[in-house]
Amino acid sequence: MTTATQSLSDASRSFIERGPGKLFIGNEWVDAADGRTFGTENPATGEEITQVAHAGAEDVDRAVKAAAAALEGPWGKQPAHARGQQMMALAAALEANTDELAELEALDQGKPVAYAKMVDVRLAVAHLQYYAGWPTKIEGETIPVSWPNAFVYTRREPVGVCGQIIPWNFPLLMAAWKIAPALAAGCTVILKPAEQTPLTALRLAELVAEVGLPEGVVNVLTGDGETGKAIVDHPGIAKIAFTGSTEVGRAIGETAGRMLKRVTLELGGKSANIILPDADLEQAIPGSFQGLYFNTGQACNAASRLYVQKDQYDTVVSALADAAKGAKVGPGLDPESQFGPVVSKAQHERVLSYIESGLSEGAEAVAGGGATEGANGGYFINPTLFAGVEDDMKIAREEIFGPVLVAMPYDDIEEVARRANDSEYGLAAGVWTRDVGNAHRLAHLLKAGSVYINVWGASDPAAPFGGYKASGIGREMGHANLDAYLETKTVWTALG
Ligand code: NAP
Ligand code: MG
Repeated sequence: MTTATQSLSDASRSFIERGPGKLFIGNEWVDAADGRTFGTENPATGEEITQVAHAGAEDVDRAVKAAAAALEGPWGKQPAHARGQQMMALAAALEANTDELAELEALDQGKPVAYAKMVDVRLAVAHLQYYAGWPTKIEGETIPVSWPNAFVYTRREPVGVCGQIIPWNFPLLMAAWKIAPALAAGCTVILKPAEQTPLTALRLAELVAEVGLPEGVVNVLTGDGETGKAIVDHPGIAKIAFTGSTEVGRAIGETAGRMLKRVTLELGGKSANIILPDADLEQAIPGSFQGLYFNTGQACNAASRLYVQKDQYDTVVSALADAAKGAKVGPGLDPESQFGPVVSKAQHERVLSYIESGLSEGAEAVAGGGATEGANGGYFINPTLFAGVEDDMKIAREEIFGPVLVAMPYDDIEEVARRANDSEYGLAAGVWTRDVGNAHRLAHLLKAGSVYINVWGASDPAAPFGGYKASGIGREMGHANLDAYLETKTVWTALG
């Protein structure tokens, strides 16, 4: 047991000690077919927490068979109402275990436990509750066709077995984003958490069994990119839902296109955050600060490109630099920590290399600019703010996915809208202003799936979320995501 696990609650320690090293297939815990395992570590120390199973193609096949049998069997046959009730039971089980789930997330992912509770677990519960209301509202239509004596109606049917591949930034929440609409639509799922953060998905699997979801409805396969690829390649999987990097998203899209699988992709971003001259800076500065540094900058919709009108640029940049310098960075399990480490050694190196690139391209780090001293093996990076940034610098164009904000001055609205849209991405954008006309003018001009006005990163299970351009295909949340798990069948009857 590592030092960090010694400070855990009894519930979390008991989960780690009973060894979450198996795969969850058909409501049973099984070893990987080839017996492989790998370690998951605590990013605040770099120490291994425990070993988890490493699923391969044979395990994917076993899980597909279990998920297909559930679809044909009890899950597929029961009335819609029962599905909703079972989802509500799962939501209640998550809620009842909030403290433990938040602690496991803080341990495995690194984020502050208070945020894990307030954001990750709370929203995961909300997602299941929201979608639990849908099964009884999925309706077909009767169609007034031009033929005489015809009765034509549509049915919405589950698309089938779904492969769901999620990243490490919001592990439990991403699991809920994925499984909730799929279950509401009547699908069954094979969920693959990221190799860096498997623990809460495994605890979720225990709760799936505890609340009595029929076997095979939710299967959890821990593993790496190779496991994800085996899921994408399996012909028994009808739909892939993926959140992660644009690079992997493109590869998945290619395979899905070739195999004609349904696919939704929620990918990266480099979102423009614009402060207009009439903004309330008391709101815009802390909002922009959290918009980027929240979750240590590891959010797909992070407010990573800040545009400030040139007359206010120095004031805003210096206030943000002060806030960044004063931020308390530390282990997620320390209640004092405002920001945790980045998730892994690889991510630590990647983010530091972006900081190096910013410095070498001539930007000025007015806060941070490197790894945190005395980090005790943890992957800490000081919240970094770059001023003097040009739009064509690498740090202004590529997704960094770490605590690095770039700030650029602008002159007027048309110019800033054009620069904001000059990106391969289009996940989110934001505007801070008191002028309702300019707010909506920009909201209409900005090419992004979400536009935030006087707020950043607001989220609700009922409100669609997803990307324009290279930020993805399809939408998460709301009924838009439910549609992604449904086929439409048209039934024709000749009435004679
Ligand atoms: P990633 O490789 O895209 O990982 C996301 C998920 O896809 C993980 O579960 C991963 O498995 C799996 N995966 C990897 N290769 C796959 C393949 N060929 N086929 C199917 N699934 C595959 O992301 P990452 O390497 O962890 O992070 C790299 C960068 O991606 C970050 O720096 C950030 O820019 C971006 N990112 C974006 C988001 C987002 O929310 N949009 C989230 C995370 C990362 P394993 O992790 O187990 O290998
Ligand atoms: Mg971990």
